[in-house]
Amino acid sequence: MKTLLTGVLSFMFCLFVINVEAQEMKKAPIDTIFEQGEPNPYGKYFTGQTYLNMLSQKNDIWNSSIGNVTFEPNARTNWHKHSGGQILLVLAGEGRYQERGKELRILHPGDVVRIPLNVEHWHGAAPNSWFSHISIETNLPDNQTTWLEPVEL
Ligand code: MN
Repeated sequence: MKTLLTGVLSFMFCLFVINVEAQEMKKAPIDTIFEQGEPNPYGKYFTGQTYLNMLSQKNDIWNSSIGNVTFEPNARTNWHKHSGGQILLVLAGEGRYQERGKELRILHPGDVVRIPLNVEHWHGAAPNSWFSHISIETNLPDNQTTWLEPVEL
């Protein structure tokens, strides 16, 4: 009897865990083209929920790293900079890009953002739109990202 009870409780706990995970993962209502990926493991450097799908990992052959990032509405990176720069290719939704001290730039599918080396900036979704972009880390292997404070809007 005790074994049966333990089994039932374990099963219910599994259902609970699966349900919690299902709630965290929201499918973007935009065509992200590539798979949306998993909740972003770098989430502590972002505001709001984002998802990351690494399309090509950093390695010694291509010296590049390419990922697909999907943002929920109003989700965004902290202020940060890349010592080797970064290129963004906008896929879907409406987004935002801003360099420190400069005008906010509105992003649409097909836009290309070339982010200079060591320039502080942030990128993310518009307040009312999901958003996805490809992120290309350039100038590997010596491209370090420095994360700064959250963006206040
Ligand atoms: Mn960046």
